[in-house]
Amino acid sequence: MTLYLTGLHSGTNPQPGLGSARSLRAAFPKAHIVGVDYSPRSSGIHWPELDQIWLQRPWDEMHLPSYADRVRGVLDAGGCWLSGTDLESRWLAGQFPDAHPRLLSPSMAALQSIEKPGVPAAAAALPVRIAPYRHTAATSDWDLHAFCRAHDWNLWLKGPYYDAVRVTNWPALEAGRRFLTGLWTTEDLFVQKHVAGFEESVCFAAYEGELLGAVRMVKRDLTDLSKTWAGSITEVPESFLQPLRAVLRDLRYTGGGELEMIRDADEVLWLLEWNPRFPAWIYGATLAGTNMPALLVARALGLDAPATPVQARAFTRVVLEVPVNADHPLPPLPEPLPVTGFGLKHPSGLLGLAKNMHSTALAADTAVSTPPPLPAVPASYLTDLEAAQASEHPTPQFIFLPTVAEAGFRRTAAAAQALSGPGLTVLPAYSIKTNPDARLLQCARQAGLLAEAISLAEVRKALQCGFPAGDILLNGPGKWYPDSTFPEAPLRVVFADSLADLERIAAGVRSGAVKAASVGIRLRPPHITSRFGIPTDHPEAFSALVRAIAGLPESMPLSAHMHMASSTIGVERWLRLFQSTLHWCGAVQAMTGRAFASLDLGGGWAPDDWTTFLTNGLPQAVAAVRAQLPDVKELFLEPGKALAEPAMALAMRILEIKEDREGGRTEVVVDGSVADLPMGQFQPHRILHRSAGGQSPLQVLGRGTTQLQGRLCMEHDFAALSVGLPETAAPGDELYVCDAGAYDKSMSYDFGKG
Ligand SMILES: *Cc1c(COP(=O)(O)O)cnc(C)c1O
Repeated sequence: MTLYLTGLHSGTNPQPGLGSARSLRAAFPKAHIVGVDYSPRSSGIHWPELDQIWLQRPWDEMHLPSYADRVRGVLDAGGCWLSGTDLESRWLAGQFPDAHPRLLSPSMAALQSIEKPGVPAAAAALPVRIAPYRHTAATSDWDLHAFCRAHDWNLWLKGPYYDAVRVTNWPALEAGRRFLTGLWTTEDLFVQKHVAGFEESVCFAAYEGELLGAVRMVKRDLTDLSKTWAGSITEVPESFLQPLRAVLRDLRYTGGGELEMIRDADEVLWLLEWNPRFPAWIYGATLAGTNMPALLVARALGLDAPATPVQARAFTRVVLEVPVNADHPLPPLPEPLPVTGFGLKHPSGLLGLAKNMHSTALAADTAVSTPPPLPAVPASYLTDLEAAQASEHPTPQFIFLPTVAEAGFRRTAAAAQALSGPGLTVLPAYSIKTNPDARLLQCARQAGLLAEAISLAEVRKALQCGFPAGDILLNGPGKWYPDSTFPEAPLRVVFADSLADLERIAAGVRSGAVKAASVGIRLRPPHITSRFGIPTDHPEAFSALVRAIAGLPESMPLSAHMHMASSTIGVERWLRLFQSTLHWCGAVQAMTGRAFASLDLGGGWAPDDWTTFLTNGLPQAVAAVRAQLPDVKELFLEPGKALAEPAMALAMRILEIKEDREGGRTEVVVDGSVADLPMGQFQPHRILHRSAGGQSPLQVLGRGTTQLQGRLCMEHDFAALSVGLPETAAPGDELYVCDAGAYDKSMSYDFGKG
């Protein structure tokens, strides 16, 4: 009996080779076990129970067809092959399209049916769910950002084979994408929602579709990489085993397998992935009485299934020193890489295999060669840009899109009006600081919106633009800036950002210096980091708030305010925060004996989310306010970027197309800069292109390999990092960066202009 085992590395991110070897040795003491690996750095080659080590050239140096012939040779000679890496299984499946009775890993068809993230075979039949995901190569950046917002920026960016990067914001996603694409030589990545819960696995062995054995393992201790360090082994419940048996039969599955899952607080099992091999902890299952490598080998060789004693129902790992195999002396440490340190996470040379497979089109991602889809750009953007005769203007310059702007304000006003009714009026207020352009304030005024200011300077601007004082909300931590002269008529609401601020407002109200029809408190959201508002989530803070409210005149109507950007914390989380705000308001009412007359839900909405929210979210929120805070007569909303962002585009021109193309990347210098587009690297923008001369039509650009470098002499000056600029682009061409009307405009600054 000759058994070939691969994937021998035993480190903090271990492979299954050694666990399989120990299991097989326990069942077949006389077997000749050959450890196969592709790197002298793989620690398992020194394990004393291996009879022979067959060390190959590194994957990226190997002639893969010859190696396939040698594998076929050892199989034909009677050997069994247990692959210990996903990537090698995939390569082998390609080399043996008609399978081999002693190649103990799944066929290509089976592998395709269990591919992550969708894992179609399991999703259709097993009692598991798959967390929402998007393939990055098949999604425009604009839509990817929307997906991340919808899932609370609580996500993982994962490679097709191994590795995952936690993603909580756009720059992290872009950096992770560059890193993983470089590492694994593929754009075939996906973003998947994080699931909170406890990790467990089902591990099994099957031969030609017949289930030979299976266990359930619950992780009891983890490494820093969240790998198993200890676990307990139990039987797989029949409700899981029965459909698993059917799936394996349908796939004619051969080999080991592990379904990695998370059990959430509601007992729902979320399938993360189905690995086409045994897990590294496989010897733990052997200790618990189910020796799956031995069952698999016995079945393949037509032997009786060996008996396995139960030693314990749980296992833990320890760290052992073993003598180094004299035939394979230790190599020196590699040169440290500047960014990632020592590249030792994948010591078996898997990165090289990925590269080699990619260059020979064997990888899973051949479908990725189609360019990523273009983002949808509404026709009104193009007509407004054409009407503005944007080509005539010097660049860089912001171009106002009047139809786009008006449509946003009108839609908002109409939705608010439709949701207003007896007892409760919904009142959107445009956030001035987001973009104080008078044209936007005029749009707001004409559509019937209020104005929301964070300083008395902004109050003055609103008054100049025709807003009566009673249509202005005043908010924020520095509202007395630049001085504290109030307009003669009272403002609609003045919100306190802290207890000190509340005391100052109360004193001002008593002395007549602060003229407000209502005084509000901004509540600091519990469990979310925010520097704003009055904390409520511990008893002392809460009672201090209750005491401070008692200092306000009885006749003064009270308002409450929450503001947390859903574009940052995600839409689902925002909705939960809203629910919790209603509860906190109820608690404040109960403790003070005073009812809130109005509620302000703040801003922070991405334009697309806002449009959705107006019809799906806001109606439910209004109903909840009516039900839970019946004394609230006015519900304020404070959209800023939801209305301003689409309303302007930044026009730029290409200055230079650099000749050096680094790693397939084209570097292009534009006359715009980080000073004109400060949010360029923090969120995606849709970009339009037109050849010089202004005659040709505007074309939407997708993602690509062009880096738009700003005109400034600063290392971090990029307008965009990965743009699909056409080959024909030339100096003088026009670029219009859409979605630049909010903080790009208001926070842009003069720099490098003499
Ligand atoms: C900035 C601000 C807004 C608007 O935020 P956007 O992200 O532009 O929607 C609303 N309310 C308050 C209190 C603000 O400070």
